[in-house]
Amino acid sequence: MPKMDDEKRKQLRKRTQIVMAGRTPEDQFGFVNTPIYRGSTVLYPDYETLKHRSQRFTYGTKGTPTTQALENAWSEIAGAAGTVLAPSGLAAMTLALMTALKAGDHLLVTDSAYLPTRHFCNTVLARMGVETSYYDPSIGAGLKRLLKPNTTAVLVEAPGSQSFEMQDIPAIAEVAHAHGMCVIMDNTWATPLFFPPHERGVDLAVEAGTKYLGGHSDILLGLVSANPLWLKRLRATFDAFAICAGPEDCFLALRGLRTMELRLREAERQGLALANWLAERAEVKRVLHPALPGTPGHEIWKRDFLGASGLFSVILQPCSEKALAALLDGLELFGMGYSWGGFESLVIPFDCASYRTATTWNPGGPALRFQVGLEDMDDLIADLEAGFARMRE
Ligand SMILES: *Cc1c(COP(=O)(O)O)cnc(C)c1O
Repeated sequence: MPKMDDEKRKQLRKRTQIVMAGRTPEDQFGFVNTPIYRGSTVLYPDYETLKHRSQRFTYGTKGTPTTQALENAWSEIAGAAGTVLAPSGLAAMTLALMTALKAGDHLLVTDSAYLPTRHFCNTVLARMGVETSYYDPSIGAGLKRLLKPNTTAVLVEAPGSQSFEMQDIPAIAEVAHAHGMCVIMDNTWATPLFFPPHERGVDLAVEAGTKYLGGHSDILLGLVSANPLWLKRLRATFDAFAICAGPEDCFLALRGLRTMELRLREAERQGLALANWLAERAEVKRVLHPALPGTPGHEIWKRDFLGASGLFSVILQPCSEKALAALLDGLELFGMGYSWGGFESLVIPFDCASYRTATTWNPGGPALRFQVGLEDMDDLIADLEAGFARMRE
């Protein structure tokens, strides 16, 4: 098998890229996959090489063939100049924020951001002298009104964590770039396969690899990809912190990557099937799924996204807490737990009201977030049907 040149690789379609990306069998004695390299010390052949650190790998915290394989694969798929890895999605987000910000800066964060991201902004960043303002996720080009002379970064996340608001990211990026700001995105829901972040104006794109990249609920991993403008600063921040992803998790992420397109397509199909079924139920007031026609943000989704993953929410008709517990407690297929993106279905009740500051969350009934796995849809529906029956009793 001759080695394909880089230009030709870039022309490959996504499904082929996902199979090829980051693999170098010629460096692995012909084996298809890069194995797990464990290591701290890397030996140098001579004084000159040591003096100039002029070899590809210099120390365990800076990278190994395993981490490099994953970084290269992700950069190719995300259309990025480069990628760094972190031991969790949240760690990747903090790395992106620390890359873009310094003391005295002002940061704009969507009110729909992942709650632990808010926590980092309100505690660590505040302590470091960075001021955070939250904005309505639907703001679009209106972001302009919130800019101060020291606003240096904006964080977007679409769809919104738990509540699934869409954001006009190209419009936000245009305003931000005119002001010399960095656009950071939490792209975990769509992954670069369904939302190519850098093509749409994102400078630093964060992915919780814990979710769809891993795909089996058995790893913790984060990735930050950068466009050419931000890569050097991202890499320097990563080197300064040396928060490294575990080698085994990187290996499992590479394994997960090869089937990610297939799993995402199935998640989309299953997610839409369940969302459509739920939309018809009398117990359900509203379905929050950006790929469902008629949902707020659907037009933006259609314009900017290439697919939908299997995570969405519903608002139930008002009911007692006891009735809600009866629905959830007897479910035999939907596990109750955080995280998502694995092969198994999950459900979690949530309430954004206590922490939103730029918007009000008052959906008029209990809210549930569903992660749809790979089970047979008829079985999933039967599980929920029984749950709704318990709820009515
Ligand atoms: C889960 C998640 C994260 C954090 O990932 P961890 O690996 O669990 O730290 C960040 N953003 C979003 C949108 C997530 O769903």
